[in-house]
Amino acid sequence: MRNLLLFLFILIGVYYLRRLLAGNDAADKPTAAAEPQREAEQVLPCAHCGLLVPASEGVESQGNFFCSAEHLRLGPGAQ
Ligand SMILES: [Zn+2]
Repeated sequence: MRNLLLFLFILIGVYYLRRLLAGNDAADKPTAAAEPQREAEQVLPCAHCGLLVPASEGVESQGNFFCSAEHLRLGPGAQ
């Protein structure tokens, strides 16, 4: 009977020790540092209407930036 109780105490001790170690591992892991930093996209004004548009969504031609293909066709000016 005494050996059975000792065995149970050891099992409970091992269980709590493993939980404690697993909890510490999870707390030590950096979560925010692992995420890649998103670069801020450049926003440019349209040469035709002056609308601010992200660089990836606009059209660039001959050094001028336009919000759309339509304003690229119309050309710079007339703001
Ligand atoms: Zn425009």
